[in-house]
Amino acid sequence: MFNGSQTVPEIMVKVNYHIHSTYSDGRATIMQYAEEAVRKGFHEIAFTEHLAIRPGSMKKLYYSIDASKIEDYVEDVKGAGRSFKGLKVKAGLEVDYFPGSGSLLKDILGSNDLDFTMVSIHWIGEFCLDCVKYKKAFEIAVKEEGFDKFYSKYLRLLGEAVESGLFNVIAHFDIARNWGFKTSSDFKMDELKILENASKLGMAVEVSSKGLRNPINEPYPARRILEYCSPLRIPITLGTDAHRLNEIDANYDSIVEYARSAGYSELAVFSRGKLTLVSL
Ligand SMILES: [Zn+2]
Ligand SMILES: [Zn+2]
Repeated sequence: MFNGSQTVPEIMVKVNYHIHSTYSDGRATIMQYAEEAVRKGFHEIAFTEHLAIRPGSMKKLYYSIDASKIEDYVEDVKGAGRSFKGLKVKAGLEVDYFPGSGSLLKDILGSNDLDFTMVSIHWIGEFCLDCVKYKKAFEIAVKEEGFDKFYSKYLRLLGEAVESGLFNVIAHFDIARNWGFKTSSDFKMDELKILENASKLGMAVEVSSKGLRNPINEPYPARRILEYCSPLRIPITLGTDAHRLNEIDANYDSIVEYARSAGYSELAVFSRGKLTLVSL
């Protein structure tokens, strides 16, 4: 359905497109996850190691894959795919976007064999948005300055990231809210502008169960945002943001129901950058 480059839906599949192995900050290896995925009845999984490098420094952040290891990582993912009949295993990256990240990321992402890339905004200035050790300081700042200022900055950066054209998927679209912060202004126009650009670029939006394990206790994106996606014909991916084996199917059924309730009957999957739709 969504546009000419996409194909007719295949059979219904169980898919998780957001998994972190020991190549970044996950606690299990690629092979361990692949075995667990087969055990739990998944048909397709994608690893999405963090790639987090601030522009102006070639030093990766502590939770990031080493950029020089991306080739080895892709080979290991392909190896896992060959080891398990009936399980497709894809190699992606969850890429942190900082102000001005474009050219550095272009160099790194342009020279590899990845199936897809997701973009994430994890940092607003000095605050990591979903790191427990920054929670207190972020809460104090939000109390003093209001959440709108931070959410506005967050959306501006996400907008810049989408416009860079470097990514296939927007990960956890509204993770800025994960400690339960609420905006007092209406950001619909800003959110829609990002989604309209994503739609023009053929990007997908992730439906993530991670928020169900965070204080906000809701999937990402919020229902309101997911309901903007559907009329724009933006495909979705599904992911649990697994960092350990038992998170491979964390709240999986809930996000399937959530996506269906917003009118989705198909999921996006990727092979070497090409999007295909499969039945949800
Ligand atoms: Zn993330
Ligand atoms: Zn993640």
